[in-house]
Order: sequence, then C-alpha cells, then structure tokens
Amino acid sequence: IVHMEKVNKYFGSLHVMQDIDLEITAGEVVVIVGASGSGKSTLIRCVNGLEEFQSGRIVVDGNELTPHGKGGKSLQTIRTEVGMVFQQFNLFPHLSVHANVTLAPEKVRGLDSGKARQIADRLLERVGITDQADKYPGQLSGGQQQRVALARALAMEPRLMLFDEPTSALDPEMIGEVLDAMRELANEGMTMMIVTHEMGFAREVADRVIFVHGGRIVEEGTPQDVFDHPQHERTQSFLSRVL
Ligand code: ATP
Ligand code: MG
Repeated sequence: IVHMEKVNKYFGSLHVMQDIDLEITAGEVVVIVGASGSGKSTLIRCVNGLEEFQSGRIVVDGNELTPHGKGGKSLQTIRTEVGMVFQQFNLFPHLSVHANVTLAPEKVRGLDSGKARQIADRLLERVGITDQADKYPGQLSGGQQQRVALARALAMEPRLMLFDEPTSALDPEMIGEVLDAMRELANEGMTMMIVTHEMGFAREVADRVIFVHGGRIVEEGTPQDVFDHPQHERTQSFLSRVL
C-alpha cells in the first residue's frame, strides 16, 4: 500500500532522506526507530504529502506523489485515505469532542450529520471516551485527548494510519491507554507506520522494525532481528542507549 523508491529530501543543504526505499503491504505494522534528528518524522510526513521531496517516487494506495509537492489530485486523495496522529493532539479547541470527530466525515466525506454522528459514537465508544463526548478538548486529560485524536483520524476510514510519537507528550500513567487503543487497531488489521520510543510496545505490535540513521534506513527486520540481534553498529549503540 506504500511504495517508496529512491526518495531523497533536502532541507536546504541538509540531506534528510537519502535514497529511501520502502515497501509496506496492507495490514502491516511498521515501527520506525532512530535517534533524534535522524529523519523519522520527515519520512512519515512525506507519505501523506506534508513534506515535499526532491527526487524519487512515493505511491500510496495507487496514488502517486511527485517530487516538489506536485501531487495534485493524488495528494488530495492520499490525504483522505491516510490518517495521522501527532505528538501534539491538535484537536480543535473550540469544538466539542463529538464535533471534533464528526467534522471531517461531514465536510470532507460529505456524510449527513446522522451518519457522521453514528460513526463518531461508535469510534468514541471504541476508544473509551463516550462519557466525555460533550466536553471540550481542554477539559480532557492528555491521554483522553490523544484517544479523541485517534477517533477523529479513524472517522475518515483511512486505509493507512501514521503515528509520530503519539505518546511522547503524555504523562507516564496515560501512555498505556493510548498504546492499548493502538494495539487494538493493529489487531484489527489496520496498516500502520509508527514512530515511537516505546520499545516494549514496538516489540509487541510491529511486524517490522526500521532503524533510521542520518536519513538512511540502516537496518530493518522483525522486532527480534532488530532488537535482539542488531547487525549494524549504529543500531547497537542506539539500542544500548534506549533499552
Ligand atoms: P525527533 O526524534 O527529534 O523527532 P526525527 O527523527 O523525527 O527527530 P526529523 O524531524 O525528521 O527528525 O528531522 C530530520 C532532520 O531535518 C533534522 O536534522 C532536523 O533538524 C531537520 N529538519 C526537520 N524539519 C526541518 C525544517 N522544517 N527545516 C529545516 N530542517 C528541518
Ligand atoms: Mg520527529
């Protein structure tokens, strides 16, 4: 469902993605790990066209993104098919929890309000937020807000979900509830690309772990391969610092 071929990206003279080749099949859960500044966020942001790239190919569910941000119709399609959850929850503060979740289905998918409401109710129940639906984001805990952000992304019925350090801004006691919701999604067969520092979670849910260093994919494999038997010296030293 994701095909990246020789993708290169620069921020000015900084080469932040170097010949990235990546193939992700439907239903796969891929966790991306690497040191700060290695290019993890840039990599997943390229997949839904939030970042331009300078050369190479990116195809998402049959839609081709071309270099220099000229995605045209493909870009629009990709944005409706790919959901994203960020470190910062980015909920609309002036809208209720419920309205946060119904907004995109109504405005982008053009569903009538009854149908959008049905979808929102189901998703809020699924992430355990039903009783908070009429509150505003500012009245919720960080963990609750992030679960709403997940429900909001799922309301578009995405084919692929991207996560960029979804638990990094949370107090420790709230990390588990967000990871639980993500684990459930993975078990249901959602295709997911996840940047996280939660190595225990990665080991448990990932079909494949990708280690990025200096804008390159240095090593990839099953969690056992990468965590227990890292081949590359960069991977070894990174893991010795985080595990
Ligand atoms: P972290 O773990 O800290 O989130 P990361 O692996 O996600 O790091 P990126 O955010 O992808 O790293 O950044 C990769 C490199 O690109 C870094 O050197 C960063 O400073 C640089 N960079 C990121 N965004 C920009 C930007 N908008 N303009 C210029 N340089 C940028
Ligand atoms: Mg990042």
